[in-house]
Amino acid sequence: MVYASFKGGCSFLKILCMECGNPVGIIDKVYKCPKCGGLLDVEYDYDALAETVQKLWSNRPLGVWKYSELLPVLDKTLRVSIGEGGTRLVHCKRLGEKLKLKNLYVKDEGSNPTGSFKDRGMTVGVTKALEFRVRNLICASTGNTSSSLAAYAARAGLNCIVLIPSGKIALGKLAQALIYGAKVVAVKGNFDDALRIVVELSSRPDFYLLNSLNPYRLEGQKTAAFEIHEQLGGRVPDWLIIPVGNAGNISAYWKGFEELALLGLSELKPKMIGVQSKGANPLVRAFKEGRDLTPLTQVETVATAIRIGNPVNWRKAMRAVKKSNGLFEDVDDNDIVEAQKTLAKTEGIFTEPAGAAPIAYLMKHRDDGLIDADDVVVCVATGSGLKDPDTAIRFSEKPAEIEADSKSILNYLRRSELT
Ligand SMILES: *Cc1c(COP(=O)(O)O)cnc(C)c1O
Ligand SMILES: [Zn+2]
Repeated sequence: MVYASFKGGCSFLKILCMECGNPVGIIDKVYKCPKCGGLLDVEYDYDALAETVQKLWSNRPLGVWKYSELLPVLDKTLRVSIGEGGTRLVHCKRLGEKLKLKNLYVKDEGSNPTGSFKDRGMTVGVTKALEFRVRNLICASTGNTSSSLAAYAARAGLNCIVLIPSGKIALGKLAQALIYGAKVVAVKGNFDDALRIVVELSSRPDFYLLNSLNPYRLEGQKTAAFEIHEQLGGRVPDWLIIPVGNAGNISAYWKGFEELALLGLSELKPKMIGVQSKGANPLVRAFKEGRDLTPLTQVETVATAIRIGNPVNWRKAMRAVKKSNGLFEDVDDNDIVEAQKTLAKTEGIFTEPAGAAPIAYLMKHRDDGLIDADDVVVCVATGSGLKDPDTAIRFSEKPAEIEADSKSILNYLRRSELT
């Protein structure tokens, strides 16, 4: 099959089924392989791009669209952007000392426009919606996906419809979706019902699905790997440690690192460590038992962003972790909360519980001897802690109530050994 070529946007790409290799038309609004139901993947003409991208990229500011030659957008005038990507890669010296790691970094994805990495994918997914000329963008979610979709839909002037399971309406979490003007519908059923309905609706010509099945979101998310490579001065880390829910993001990072190698920009590929919560660990089980994934029906964890029993992208993620010689591991909720506090107190980075899972892994498994003190380790802090202030307050010391005079305050501080 020949690569399609377009003016102004990305120049060479094709969309293939990752199971059977069936090519899918790039202007078709499809989410899965029409032949076998497999997940779709986007490929570029890396040989042609290898000669040009380094020069093109060198003059552009860090961010998702810096890498437009490797994004599947055909018309760059349609771009829907609110400043996604270009997040800090923080060298964590104080936390690194605690963990006996000289080169520990945190990629601070909470500083994206709506407070999570989901924005990297939505900027591309919603731009595709404009290309497909659909008006109604839809997802099932109570978390960061809906926050992000609602913002990008608003920016594009499109409708956003969010389906949430009735009775489990955590309105605090949906504050963003509501304020960005999404139509939020509580379905009389559970999350699986909500997802089934959005999948059904999205086959209509005027609806477009932006749940994890959407192949274009991952294309935007892979740019975080390109940024890390650049922020480390043109090298990839030895280890990339990342929380795993639907398993799209870990697959996207791996794709980014593979593409850097295909373009001849890096040789090494990092080992990937996917971290799940013990209460929602289907990929850890499948990995350790060397078998296909069995969905879990009952999942519970404080890290709500990774409270997922049936990860859509598990095949992509399993392939990535195995190819990288990495692993999946789980941590319990106490470890996650402890890691969240430690990251905040040592480095000033407030991430939501899911985003602290990689640090929890390091705190728990540093003594396994897997990682050398000199290795370059990047942990992805996937979302901002302000998304979930309830958890932070619940596990923190409550403020003391003291009489309103400085003597009483001083006495109190002495008692708490602060002065
Ligand atoms: C969505 C999300 C995750 C999980 O990412 P997947 O691609 O579903 O594995 C982790 N952390 C945060 C903060 C998220 O919003
Ligand atoms: Zn197929």
